[in-house]
Amino acid sequence: MERLVRQFLWGGKAGKSGVALVPWETVQKPLDQAKYNWVDVVPLSIQRRGCSRLWTGLSNIWEDLKECISWDIRDGRDTDFWYDHWLGKDNRLAFSCTILSSPRPARVADMVTNDGLWDWDRIGSSLPRIALDRIASVPPPRTGLGGYFPVWRWEDKRGFTTRSAYAFLVLDSGTHYPAVWRRIWKLVVPQRVQVFVWVTLHERLLTNAERVRRHFANSELCGICGGAREDMEHVLRSCAMAKGLWLRLIPSASRVSFFSLTFKEWFCTNLFEGSFVSNDDEWSNRFAIMCWLLWKRRCRLLFEENVGVLDDVLVTGNRLLMQTRDAFTMLVGSYARCAVVRLWSRQPPGWVKMNVDASVSIADQTAGVGGAIRDDIGSWRFGFARFVGRCNALLAELWAIHDGLLHTWELGYLRVELESDCLEAVRIVNCQSNEWGGSALVISIRRLLAADWDVVVRHISRDMNKVADSLAQRGRELRAESSAFYLPPEGTISLVIQEQGASGGVTGLPAREAPVVSGAAVGIG
Ligand SMILES: [Zn+2]
Repeated sequence: MERLVRQFLWGGKAGKSGVALVPWETVQKPLDQAKYNWVDVVPLSIQRRGCSRLWTGLSNIWEDLKECISWDIRDGRDTDFWYDHWLGKDNRLAFSCTILSSPRPARVADMVTNDGLWDWDRIGSSLPRIALDRIASVPPPRTGLGGYFPVWRWEDKRGFTTRSAYAFLVLDSGTHYPAVWRRIWKLVVPQRVQVFVWVTLHERLLTNAERVRRHFANSELCGICGGAREDMEHVLRSCAMAKGLWLRLIPSASRVSFFSLTFKEWFCTNLFEGSFVSNDDEWSNRFAIMCWLLWKRRCRLLFEENVGVLDDVLVTGNRLLMQTRDAFTMLVGSYARCAVVRLWSRQPPGWVKMNVDASVSIADQTAGVGGAIRDDIGSWRFGFARFVGRCNALLAELWAIHDGLLHTWELGYLRVELESDCLEAVRIVNCQSNEWGGSALVISIRRLLAADWDVVVRHISRDMNKVADSLAQRGRELRAESSAFYLPPEGTISLVIQEQGASGGVTGLPAREAPVVSGAAVGIG
């Protein structure tokens, strides 16, 4: 379609270009800018008189929508350091400022030194470490990259999705919320137990208390002991049957706190922290299964005729736990058998290969990148590792590619294969994906790729990228500003030898670790 339009406008034929009548930028100028007199990228308000229902709807949610937009920093002149969203999901920096409750507005562009690096002397004193790490992962603003660029805040890929918009609107309250819900599905228990936990956490278990609330029943009293209100707490913790079970499981030292927490605290602590029974690394799963069995048994006792002799909950629960664990292990085992293990491979003569990778902690999003250059017989030429700050995995992988390219270019190699195990990042830098198009980092990467050398960026499997992976982990764990390795560092030597195969040539000499100028500078100048 676009090609047809282009041909119409400029009359180009294969191999021969016509006269450019109108620049492409003008042709593709969005209709909304012309029709609705839309000047700013994101105007303060879009209220209009006598507009369509759709437009009214849009203007009603405009405030919410603006909260969902983050600004990608390019030259940083239009973005406010304290009061704009420019760190993705993170809140405005003004909320994190440790010395002033409302710091003076300042442009992001003014927060860099003359060398184009973040001005840590200026920023460092007023923000906590965690915010500084986030800033470190953003390429410092640079002139010539263009103005600000809107991205969707809630997705790492930065494009809009209905799912993330819904999550923002509905689950906004309670920051720990998504983590808990996600962890339910990580419990190693049968799926119906997971669903039971989910319903319970929503406080929707159909106890007598809940049935009265819904006008299904007249009495809130416990159907088994008859002595108390039958709510979730009673059913799962304090009714005689439940209490008997917990007394058999919980050591006496922990009993007081076990029985005194509020229901929700009690439920969540046992499921997600497992602190009452020491030496039981399966406590979360055991607890979930026991709760489910207690509920099931209660339902059978109350609603089934001829229940007969019931199994002991403890015995049944432990058996179920064991069976589930076995089933899960078998599943994982069969996947492992199916996976084809491939190894690092060499490149054609005259080419060097740069392997890069990123390592991001799930817990706190601290990220490191690393990479290694090897020549066409697999000998080590250079390696690097760097702490990036705090960011999502995709951004970290892009940093890895950026740093890898920059190091290879600066070392003067002219025929380079760069390999990353992140398909998404490889697609982005090779222009096969529209995501991240306006990002300053991607612009810098593409400029590097367009320089005067032969360079290919390829995707490989993780099995083939173990050396780079170990360097990236090193960068993250050591929080090293930037390290260069002219020999393989300890800990990667065995991996290098393994990848190099039988040809030998790597000695076990200790690494020379030399700090280089911070790798945060973007582009080749
Ligand atoms: Zn009871």
